[in-house]
Amino acid sequence: MTNINFFGGVDEIGGNKIRVEGKNESFFFDFGMAFSKANDYLSEFLQPRKANGILDFVELGLLPCIKGIYREDYLRHVGLSYPKEPSVDGVLISHSHVDHVAYVHHLREDIPIYLSNESYLILKALEDTGTSSFSEYLHLKKTFYMSPKVRGDGYKRTSTKIKRDIRIVEPYKKFNIGNFQIKSAPVDHSLPGASAFIVEGEEETIVYTGDLRFHGRNPELTRKFVREAAKANPTIMISEGTRIDKKENISEDEIEQRASSEIAKHKGLVVVNYPVRDLDRLLTFYKVAQDTERKLVISLKQAYLLKLFQGTDNVYPDLSDVIIYKPRKGWGLIGDDNFACVEDEWLCADKMGAKESLRDYKKWEREFLEYDNVINYKDLQENPQDYIFRCDFFELKELIDIKPANGVYIKSSTEPFDNQMEINEKKVHKWLKLFNLPLFDKEFHASGHANGQEILNMIRDINPEKVYPVHTVYKDKFKELCDDGIEVIYPILHKN
Ligand SMILES: [Zn+2]
Ligand SMILES: [Zn+2]
Repeated sequence: MTNINFFGGVDEIGGNKIRVEGKNESFFFDFGMAFSKANDYLSEFLQPRKANGILDFVELGLLPCIKGIYREDYLRHVGLSYPKEPSVDGVLISHSHVDHVAYVHHLREDIPIYLSNESYLILKALEDTGTSSFSEYLHLKKTFYMSPKVRGDGYKRTSTKIKRDIRIVEPYKKFNIGNFQIKSAPVDHSLPGASAFIVEGEEETIVYTGDLRFHGRNPELTRKFVREAAKANPTIMISEGTRIDKKENISEDEIEQRASSEIAKHKGLVVVNYPVRDLDRLLTFYKVAQDTERKLVISLKQAYLLKLFQGTDNVYPDLSDVIIYKPRKGWGLIGDDNFACVEDEWLCADKMGAKESLRDYKKWEREFLEYDNVINYKDLQENPQDYIFRCDFFELKELIDIKPANGVYIKSSTEPFDNQMEINEKKVHKWLKLFNLPLFDKEFHASGHANGQEILNMIRDINPEKVYPVHTVYKDKFKELCDDGIEVIYPILHKN
């Protein structure tokens, strides 16, 4: 008997945590965070306490109460028992968006995590450069441990970093979890490395889409997945339906053309906001920059991610072909406008030596600051016509230094879909007004998800016996598949 239990992704966009149980083995498709549920209770300064292990998350309904999957340090810290063996045999990560991967942080380190190389690189960037205290995706820092003091009585706090059991999977190369034979199938989505999975079990053949689209830079990947999934004659398909209510798509090429022709009309600085991990969008604005004789300026964080992708088989620009922005941090010592006090004297930043100005930056940031292609706000101020400056919500403060004249702001990211995003959007508008930056936000964003017709045709082509709609708030739109003899089953949120 094969059981499929849904612990997230039901009547919500994201939060996928889907357990498949065979006779003697089980695994999860994804282990992500449900944004909307998390935002119902939490905000930037109201976060679950690490001190309560997983219990704050469980209390708020964010994590399911399942024995044998959570990390030892968190369980023992609150007096819960820790079984010797994990109760699941693996987690298949479809891609590295937080709504699919965030809660891997809470899992035991001996549960194998299966993912593509690109998904691995993105998690590495998140772990190395992120600010969240819940981002131990590849390594786990054992907390709440003490060891006897070497000298004297008592104990001292210790922390050890251990590797998770990470297994990078190759496209369409079979691997096994117990009697399940599994293949990862790359698909097109709004970040590199997204994969669907085709799972052949003793009783059922299951296809899981993850998140996908047909209108990005790599639609042939998704089309190949559809062909291969159809060949497998699946009995069960678990399909995303984020945009099943939508008819239209915008492509990256359309964004490139629209942005290039708009930017050509402006002489000032072009400020653009696009998702940091969407390297296809980075490529779009890199091309826009080439079309308009400008250079794309990216943040240290995006430079770190782009660097990880150098040398892999990809189409993204070379790190030396973009410009890296050095923000003022810490003491903010840049150039001759910033000073330190030496008794009654003023010491200008230029006189302090390179070593001193590096102190403001984290270790991973420092190597980039030595590059030739690094600029700061002064360069953007002096030659605004030469640049397209990527600036996300948290970087808006840079505008205070840059003071862009005759600039424009292009919003190339998703529409707000929750309260927090709407509040932030209003703040962005205030900043733009303050700096007289006209906003261009119509049709400069390509969604990571297929539209309704594409989803329905994909399911018809794959032709499973049953389909479970997930990652959607429009499950009823799947019903028309019943006319094709496909049974549509609404998943039910599993009560542990
Ligand atoms: Zn998602
Ligand atoms: Zn996604």
